[in-house]
Order: sequence, then structure tokens, then C-alpha cells
Amino acid sequence: MTATDGYAYRRMQMVEALVRLGIRDQRVLEAMRVIPRDLFVPEAYRHAAYSEDVSINIGEGQTISQPRVVAAMTEAARIGPDDRVLEIGTGSGYQAAVLARLARFVFSIERIAPLARQAKARLDGLGIENVSIKVMDGTLGWRALAPFDAILVTAAAPDVPEPLIEQLVDGGRLVVPVGARESQVIRVVERRGERCVTRDLQGACFVPLIGRHGWQGEPT
Ligand code: SAM
Repeated sequence: MTATDGYAYRRMQMVEALVRLGIRDQRVLEAMRVIPRDLFVPEAYRHAAYSEDVSINIGEGQTISQPRVVAAMTEAARIGPDDRVLEIGTGSGYQAAVLARLARFVFSIERIAPLARQAKARLDGLGIENVSIKVMDGTLGWRALAPFDAILVTAAAPDVPEPLIEQLVDGGRLVVPVGARESQVIRVVERRGERCVTRDLQGACFVPLIGRHGWQGEPT
């Protein structure tokens, strides 16, 4: 995958903006310099694809998160090249594509089947082969394939879903927005044996994580 398309310059400007916002991890910056975010948004919104602070509707009442949020969460997850990573909330597939540049393998869960299908088609179109997508309730994690080195939740939970902590390796990182439906804080939980070390990264505003260990149903 090379940045030779018409959006390469806009993508480079986006990455420069991410650096100004404090993103330091060169691997994360490089991944976001390469992945064509314009191909993960509806055609009508492509002009906005590289604004670092813009989330975009992707249909089914869902969104692709702002690049600055994707960058901050990915950096906080400290993904290594041999890591197996679980993402909850495939959405457009963009975050999964970024993770796929950094990790050995990415497992991604989406609850809305048409979004999962579209995301898979985009990843296939880009030749990204180290992502597996499944339609189910991601609040339960993916027990059969656990444990994971890192788990990113890209929808907002009322609290940290317990099954996800259980599915981390010792030393594994869970990054998850938690709080009210309208606004949250991105929490980073590191598993250290039976203990967890927790810190809050920054405020956020995500669509709800809906499921057994999330919110119970669509917002009214
Ligand atoms: N990571 C996505 C991307 O790069 O485009 C953006 C994710 S979007 C903000 C949140 C996604 O989480 C939505 O697609 C939504 O359907 C999904 N979601 C909500 N609850 C879920 C659950 N329990 N399991 C799996 N996916 C869920």
C-alpha cells in the first residue's frame, strides 16, 4: 500500500496535525500516513476524511471516530509487531486497518452485520489480510481466541466490561471509553497479574456500546 493517491498530501497534513496534538509513537503516525481514510467514509464525505477532529456518519446511526481519537487510543494501547489485538466496534474498518499495520493479527467484532460486511470488503480491497471480523456482542469479548495483548473498544461503555479484562494477557492493555451516554473519558487499563493499573487518557464522545456488559438498547 503506497500513498500515491490524490489524498496523500491531505493525509500527510493530518499526520502533522496529530504530531502537533502530541502523538509521538512513530509506528502509529506511519500507519495513519499510509491507510487511506477517505476509502472508509461515504463518498459524499471524502473531502472531510483527513480533518483530524472530525467524526463522520457511516450509516446505521454509527460513526468513524476522529483521527485524533484513533491516534490517541492506538498509541495508548502500545501495540507491538507480534501482538494479537481485539477491537470491539469494527464500524468502517478504519481502526482495524490501522491496527493491522502495527500488530500481528487483529480480531474485530461488530454487532451490525451490514457494517461488518462493508468493512471486510474495504479491508479485502486494500489487501489487508491480518484482520478477522465477526458479528456478535463484543462486550463478551472473543473468549475462544483469548487472551489478547491489547483490546480497543471503540464505542462507549457505562463501565469497563469485566469479560474484557479477563481476556487480557498479563501486561495486556485495554483502552475503552467509559461514562455517560453523552460524554465519556477514555480509560486505559493495564492488567498486572490479578491487579489492574488504570489511568484516564482524555475526554471523548462515542456512540454507545450496546450489549450484555454495555448499554441495554439504542438511545431513545
Ligand atoms: N472503529 C470504528 C471505525 O474505525 O470506523 C468506529 C466505531 S463506531 C464509533 C462504534 C461501533 O461499535 C459501531 O459500528 C457499533 O455498531 C459498534 N458496537 C456497538 N456496540 C457493540 C457491541 N456490543 N459489539 C460490537 N460492536 C458494537
